[in-house]
Amino acid sequence: KPMDGTDIDAMAERLRAGDRAALARAITLVESRRQDHQQRAHALLQAVLPDTGKAFRVGITGVPGVGKSTTIDMLGANLTAAGRKVAVLAVDPSSTRSGGSILGDKTRMARLAVDPDAFIRPSPSAGTLGGVAAKTRESMLLCEAAGFDVVLVETVGIGQSETAVSEMVDFFLVLMLPGAGDELQGIKKGILEIADMIAVNKADGEGRKRAEAAAADYRAALNILAPRDPNWTPPVITVSGRANENLDGLWQQIETHREKMTRLGTFQDRRRTQQVSWMWSMLEDRMMASLKNNPATAERLPELEKAVREGKVSASFAVDEISGLMKL
Ligand code: GDP
Repeated sequence: KPMDGTDIDAMAERLRAGDRAALARAITLVESRRQDHQQRAHALLQAVLPDTGKAFRVGITGVPGVGKSTTIDMLGANLTAAGRKVAVLAVDPSSTRSGGSILGDKTRMARLAVDPDAFIRPSPSAGTLGGVAAKTRESMLLCEAAGFDVVLVETVGIGQSETAVSEMVDFFLVLMLPGAGDELQGIKKGILEIADMIAVNKADGEGRKRAEAAAADYRAALNILAPRDPNWTPPVITVSGRANENLDGLWQQIETHREKMTRLGTFQDRRRTQQVSWMWSMLEDRMMASLKNNPATAERLPELEKAVREGKVSASFAVDEISGLMKL
């Protein structure tokens, strides 16, 4: 079907009406690699831009087994019961490669899967982290246009994807397991530095005491780090996603953070800074793609790389030659 403005306008209209099938199709368009699909996706994003930006954008990370899907399912159900519309997206560049459990898989969130006020979308299929993150970011905007006022972005707390997610959300929540003594060893300091809050999960039954002890350890660990934002000391709380304990308290912190940051002006600052870095990262991806797809450079690059590896050509010489081929 040929692309024209009326087609995009009609899609935008259905999105604004909160049509979930239209939202699913729009995300499929965003995820497509086809050039014509990409053009339509960009036109659609441009058309709905004024309808975006209103949601609570919350990133949630944690190692496999920490209880991400259990907690998101329960928290999401609490939120829809309170009249909100909740979208769950995921960033997992390895999802198809590992063949393991797929983040944002509907079967992992039984309540939300059948909730008319929830929308669950698994991670875009494997690609570069930058590519997958860009598609999730754009899907988030589409969800906002469709009236979802909470967007939860799930990612596994291993590797680089949590940084990518923290850069697309207003609030970054790190779920931890009880038994911090051991866990703290394995946790990269980096994750504590980007957390807006730590919630030690499984604080129920026999786990309650250990969760409290872990929370105290994390508080101590955070105390020796310089806070990312001088106006926000990341709270460390205990929750039980399964038993629905303190998830209201968890959400209250997110609301408090938003109120405070909005009042101070840093909420909008953070989003504006994110917009600009999205622009640059997309531009970098586009430039790299054109470098690799350009017939002149595509042929020469592997040869030059080999020559540099073997020490026959200096890196700067190779870069000069490639720049020349690209007419930079
Ligand atoms: P994910 O891999 O991070 O998504 O973790 P899941 O939500 O799949 O949970 C992993 C396991 O931990 C499952 O067996 C859950 O039933 C269990 N679990 C999740 N949340 C809790 C909790 O709050 N308390 C307890 N005791 N178990 C939990």
